[in-house]
Amino acid sequence: MDRMDPEGNEYNPETLALGYGYDPLLSEGSVKPPVFLTSTFQFKSAMEGKRFFELAYGLRQKEEGESLGLIYSRINNPNMQIFEERMAAWDHMEQGAVFSSGMAAIMTAILCHVQPGDYILSSAPVYGGTHYLFEHILPKFNVRVIQVPAGNDTAALMDEAAQEIGVEKVKMIYLETPANPSNIMIDLESISSLAKDFSSRRKEKVLLAVDNTFFGPIFQRPADYGADLIIYSATKFIGGHSDLIAGVVTGKKEDIKPILDYRTIFGTMANPFTGWLLLRSLETLSVRMRRQAKSAKILAKYLMEHSKVKNVKYPALYSSDNPQKKIFEKQCTGPGSLISFDIYQGEEQAFKLLDSFRIFRLAVSLGGTESLVEHPMSMTHADVPPEQLENFGVTSGTIRMSVGIEHISDLKRDIKNALAKI
Ligand SMILES: *Cc1c(COP(=O)(O)O)cnc(C)c1O
Repeated sequence: MDRMDPEGNEYNPETLALGYGYDPLLSEGSVKPPVFLTSTFQFKSAMEGKRFFELAYGLRQKEEGESLGLIYSRINNPNMQIFEERMAAWDHMEQGAVFSSGMAAIMTAILCHVQPGDYILSSAPVYGGTHYLFEHILPKFNVRVIQVPAGNDTAALMDEAAQEIGVEKVKMIYLETPANPSNIMIDLESISSLAKDFSSRRKEKVLLAVDNTFFGPIFQRPADYGADLIIYSATKFIGGHSDLIAGVVTGKKEDIKPILDYRTIFGTMANPFTGWLLLRSLETLSVRMRRQAKSAKILAKYLMEHSKVKNVKYPALYSSDNPQKKIFEKQCTGPGSLISFDIYQGEEQAFKLLDSFRIFRLAVSLGGTESLVEHPMSMTHADVPPEQLENFGVTSGTIRMSVGIEHISDLKRDIKNALAKI
């Protein structure tokens, strides 16, 4: 199956997820792709092996219609490749690269595209592992990251920061929207025009990278707003069953090709079985995310009206004069299934609440079929100083929920009963 039909119409990703990038007749007619559990691939002839390696090492240009042949599973493997092609289709991008974790994806993509002396402008807060990479590892390579708060004025703050250090030093802009756990949204279009402005002044492409783990690829397509690299922890919604760790990056060929070269050398690729699990998961991604978001919206509304809940962070339900709601409506096609809310008291009552859930499991991570709850201040965000967390609206009474696919009435009752205990 091709990405387009013979008349040149592109198929929808929901359809491509079931057939694109795989030819059953190359695998004994097997309707589903087998797991290609092999480290190495046999060449038809010595000349074929030589020609594959010429491409792998960039010793010659690809001929018309030629693609890189299968060599060795650190370089390529059908389970990885089929998944990568389908992810690129979801993201409206040209190419994908799958990794052994979201962190492997983030690290490989960044180290590939920056050099000593470069600056990265990032939104804050970002995922804990990403924060650590920015604060403790990249500086060892003389790559500096300046973080500005996510919000309505992120573009203005980034522009200010760039003027201060010298615009030509900025090589990448890195965003997480919505931010975790505050659900604060950033206007992708304004940041993308900033990246273009920086690019023309630096006379070299300044890349806009977006960690799209929370909403993508179903509810947010940063490529449509000018993003160059879209990054995911595929451990979350894309894998969707809390049974694997993986990551993926999509982008234009020119930006992904060097990342693939780095992946080959770092060895940060996913393994064939994980690739196969991701293919299975991608088939139901749209159905799962839409159902999870539908339930989350109902639960967020219920929480908003509950007397023991102080406030709920869920942009789809903000009033229409809220700039955050405007950003949400502009760039998102659905509300997502992560809810943060505050109770009136602090840690002790928050823990009592967390310990009272029966269906929501007390665990970090998100995006799986099962519903989860956690306490950001003492768990996922434990290494962020409390005063910084307060700037992001996170207190000792903040709870984060990831809504799964259980029956909505059971989830609602679970929340009702747990809140009755505090
Ligand atoms: C989980 C997560 C990561 C890290 O992904 P791993 O698969 O755990 O390595 C990065 N970014 C976001 C937004 C995440 O939620």
